[in-house]
Amino acid sequence: MANPKRRTSRARKGNRRSQQTLARTQLVRCTHCGSMIRPHTICKACGHYRGRQIMVVDGAVA
Ligand SMILES: [Zn+2]
Repeated sequence: MANPKRRTSRARKGNRRSQQTLARTQLVRCTHCGSMIRPHTICKACGHYRGRQIMVVDGAVA
């Protein structure tokens, strides 16, 4: 069986695992109502996407 010649040092292991963090969710402002939404999605507050009404939302303020 193939075996590692040297044990992985604590520094090398830490450097490798420093890349394992989860990216934070990006949020942008809706151009219509200004609420924070994920990019490239329909705004849940007003139902707009790229300046057009896509979806009818109950109790939409803007
Ligand atoms: Zn909106």
